[in-house]
Amino acid sequence: MSVKMSDNNRKKVVIIGSGLVGSVCACFMAKRGYDVEVFERRDDIRAAVEVKGRSINLALSHRGRKALNSIGIEDDVLESAIPMKGRLLHSAKGELKRVVYDPTFNQCIFSVGRNYLNKKLIQATTNFPNVKIYFNHLLTRSNFEEGSVTLINLKTCEEFKRNADLIIGADGAYSKLRLAMQQTPQFQYSQQYIEHGYLELSIRPQMGHKMEPNNLHIWPRGKFMMIALPNQDSSWTVTIFMPFEKFENLSTPKKVLKFFQDTFPDSVDLIGENDIVDTFLKNRPSELVSIKCSPYHIGGKFLIIGDAAHAMVPFYGQGMNAGFEDCSLLDDLLEKNRNDIAKTIQEYSKVRVKNAHAICDLAMYNYVEMRDLVNRIGFQWRKSIDHL
Ligand code: FAD
Repeated sequence: MSVKMSDNNRKKVVIIGSGLVGSVCACFMAKRGYDVEVFERRDDIRAAVEVKGRSINLALSHRGRKALNSIGIEDDVLESAIPMKGRLLHSAKGELKRVVYDPTFNQCIFSVGRNYLNKKLIQATTNFPNVKIYFNHLLTRSNFEEGSVTLINLKTCEEFKRNADLIIGADGAYSKLRLAMQQTPQFQYSQQYIEHGYLELSIRPQMGHKMEPNNLHIWPRGKFMMIALPNQDSSWTVTIFMPFEKFENLSTPKKVLKFFQDTFPDSVDLIGENDIVDTFLKNRPSELVSIKCSPYHIGGKFLIIGDAAHAMVPFYGQGMNAGFEDCSLLDDLLEKNRNDIAKTIQEYSKVRVKNAHAICDLAMYNYVEMRDLVNRIGFQWRKSIDHL
């Protein structure tokens, strides 16, 4: 891919994290002609073995696609994504109700595998000769006065410092860069763990064809819910969101199966009794956190983006999408401010904080919508899944 080498004295950018947002940001910055170094604490996931049907998938929507389009990989990503044109609700009797997202213009969201997407995005950075990714490198300290970060090479245990014109923390919800920002005066920070956790199950490809494709399936049960998103290999990733207390009560195979037979009867054969019991008894549900902070920058060169700045509960399907939009916005502002980094990141915080806080709130609200309010839509329940 050609690199726009504008008159910007080849700015140097350090990005912490090559997750979804860090990789996209690296492409944006490289496209501007900046020299980009990305430091990632994990191994290169492109070399990791994938466990089929067990990877979380994500809903990709407009704001995320727009960013992918700007760095030239939207079509490539969509080729392996599965359109979801609406919600298909499952009642406790196994009846179905369809809610189309956009009957007028037929717009939809897309289910895409997290690992697949992350690998694609890391690969996309290799289109730019001015990006270098260092895996197994952990950010340990940030020095805002010096404008530097300290990293450790986890393979050699060598510790070293890096200076740059712009240092971006894309290091996720438990960001080390944000933690350092929290210790500076006037930095606002709040976090909320909700009382519900999630556990992931799977419908294997051989049963997946019984599910109506191209939909986000939801089993809304008032105080909790189960959802299923389609994968390329006809399997479905199923996620149950429920109060931790309820998970704890399901402590024996008999209790787990009775709960599924009573609550999600049409899913039991699809997932399989053994898999349901195994998943419940061998795994602990994961936590869900919502994080708000302000500002997103410190001084003239430090910035946080993605979950590091605004981790949110997943019910609006916008965490990654909003993170991709962060990258588009940063790029637009750098363009507008002619690569003046200090001015750009100050303006970035000013416009981004209120929007990100709003989407965190919407995500929290949408849990109630998905698990409960959808039940009140005035459509008739129809035939069971067996008749599809
Ligand atoms: P991460 O994906 O967490 O990446 C951070 C990277 O930084 C990682 O690679 C990590 O190894 C690295 N790192 C961390 N610390 C360091 C360090 N000290 N040094 C070096 N590297 C470091 N969003 C959607 O848009 N749609 C959805 O449908 C959706 N569904 C979701 C479902 C669930 C169950 C959950 C939990 C989240 C969902 N999300 C969804 C949210 C989405 O997963 C996140 O918003 C997204 O992963 C954030 O990307 P990120 O790159 O900011 O952070």
